[in-house]
Amino acid sequence: MMRGMNGVVSADWVLPVAGDPIENGAVVVEGGRIAAVGSAAELGAGRRFDSAVILPGFVNAHTHLEYAAYAGFGDGLEFGHWITVHMERKRRLDWDDFVAIARCGAAECLRSGVTTVADASFSGAAAVACAELGLRAIVYLEVFGQDTEQLLTRFRENKERIAGSLSDRVRVGVSPHAPYTCGAELYAACLELGLPVATHLAESNDEQTWMRYGTGPWEQFADILPTPPGETSVRFLAAHGALSPTMIAAHCVKVDAHEIALLAEHDVAVAHCPRSNAYLGCGIAPVAELRAAGIRVGLGTDSPNSAISFDMFDELRAAIFGARARTERADALSAKEALELATMGSARALGLTAEIGSLAPGKRADLAVVSLAGSHYAPIEDPAAAVVFGGSPERVLLTLVEGEPRYERGVTDCRELIDAGAQARLRMLRAPAAAPA
Ligand SMILES: [Zn+2]
Repeated sequence: MMRGMNGVVSADWVLPVAGDPIENGAVVVEGGRIAAVGSAAELGAGRRFDSAVILPGFVNAHTHLEYAAYAGFGDGLEFGHWITVHMERKRRLDWDDFVAIARCGAAECLRSGVTTVADASFSGAAAVACAELGLRAIVYLEVFGQDTEQLLTRFRENKERIAGSLSDRVRVGVSPHAPYTCGAELYAACLELGLPVATHLAESNDEQTWMRYGTGPWEQFADILPTPPGETSVRFLAAHGALSPTMIAAHCVKVDAHEIALLAEHDVAVAHCPRSNAYLGCGIAPVAELRAAGIRVGLGTDSPNSAISFDMFDELRAAIFGARARTERADALSAKEALELATMGSARALGLTAEIGSLAPGKRADLAVVSLAGSHYAPIEDPAAAVVFGGSPERVLLTLVEGEPRYERGVTDCRELIDAGAQARLRMLRAPAAAPA
């Protein structure tokens, strides 16, 4: 792989996101940071990309890199059975498998122009993968269950195991999984750690029915889930002081006006995951209402187990289609707004706007170069629309994280890594050998 670069990259267009598009634009990279953004005429052409756009790397606000090899598991099943398939197959893997799969996920993100992930990690393997592959990350170690002391011990052990992978670029957080798997005491204990917090919140009707009435398809898990509190997820967390500005909540599909007000009041950020929500039949999150309430909203792919891939271009399009279909308005979400959601929006949701999210002097040199050669949107009329509607991972030419090329089309070789991930998937697909009689 190429060494870290100092110098200029230029293209037909630079989309700084904070600021207007620059035709024949250039970005100057120095010591891992952006030194200048402007026209190639003033900054020089440096390494020039024709028929291409330079934009800030995508900030993927909700991922599970460890589930990169879970595509299609339980497809078409209702949530309760879907998660059963997921858990049963996951039990066939060991730590090395988790790392092998997480490496595939990190590589796929970089190939999709993603430079930062907010990753909910069951084992912590995502931290190892992100450190190795150079992806910026907050890795939220997952906890769920009822014995708070035991769970915090597991959290500390997982944190210890990944200590060597943590840095300024790969940070640790904690993820109480969801209000239906974690009690109020566990949420409180997680918040007390003083780390960034991620959770799943108000994802489905089944979740709300279970939380309010203790009925519905989730009754089958009654013996392993905490006793339902008799109120919806957001109300439950609010009542127990478990909503916080350090929290990012994935989904928030099933929220009423009062719950949106509660999220806004406590400055909880939301990771919008439209493909996952559609795939699992959960619905379409009220993004316009969330944003109108002043809530920080970012865009996330979730995992291939519920969203097919880590493809941020597909996610951007799903966000736009969902918003427009839901409101029956063509102006519900523009390409420019969607791009903002996946860069600055997600950075804001993670509290990282001082470092990432736009191309501006002083910020980390996290950026992607996307080719639009032969696209339906070329020659380019609106560069944001061209990238959002006409982009795809196959069109990503270069992804820089902190000025380091971490993916380069035709140069980066992921074959070995993909083979290892495929072996782990095969182990999940093959039923374990029957115990001897
Ligand atoms: Zn998730």
